Amino acid sequence: TSFDDVQLTEIIRNNVALARYDKPTPVQKHAIPIIINGRDLMACAQTGSGKTAAFLVPILNQMYELGHQYPLGLVLAPTRELATQIFEEAKKFAYRSRMRPAVLYGGNNTSEQMRELDRGCHLIVATPGRLEDMITRGKVGLENIRFLVLDEADRMLDMGFEPQIRRIVEQLNMPPTGQRQTLMFSATFPKQIQELASDFLSNYIFLAV
Ligand code: AMP
Repeated sequence: TSFDDVQLTEIIRNNVALARYDKPTPVQKHAIPIIINGRDLMACAQTGSGKTAAFLVPILNQMYELGHQYPLGLVLAPTRELATQIFEEAKKFAYRSRMRPAVLYGGNNTSEQMRELDRGCHLIVATPGRLEDMITRGKVGLENIRFLVLDEADRMLDMGFEPQIRRIVEQLNMPPTGQRQTLMFSATFPKQIQELASDFLSNYIFLAV
């Protein structure tokens, strides 16, 4: 198996090669075609499994195909460290595509993040608290979001982010009319995560690697 087995648009395929990813990991091999086919997904995968590229490659591919209104993609992550890692990987896959990723997390960098948002961003990677803050300040509108990813969903719940996540998701357009595609990644699948999955995902595929 290689990344050539899935229909990726040329620029994204080149960026995957530039990142020196030649063989997909198991979660990438299974998740990428499901996401490209437009299905919602609940994936149980650990850190180190390659889960970041498993969602970034297909959503950036679909975003590129859709054209450039923004933001089209939103990734929620529990910590600044994880959000930054996802952002760095998104920059690699979005290289030369004219799609701009941005990262938002708590700390003393509000004005810098606001400047980035003002420039226009296609993919927002954010921790839930700071994203809500930016929405309140009128710096982010979620009405165009077509792709929502909850990464390390179990950790976000452990950190008490469930109310923020639910408020954010309530602001998004709802499937099927809004055509939002939602992907959840979690290392574990306890009852709370199952409930979130049934509330946020529609007719989803469950993947455990
Ligand atoms: P993740 O589980 O997404 O945090 O990825 C773990 C590490 O593996 C990261 O440093 C990625 O850059 C790297 N990685 C992910 N997928 C691949 C792949 N298909 N080929 C080579 N490296 C990869």
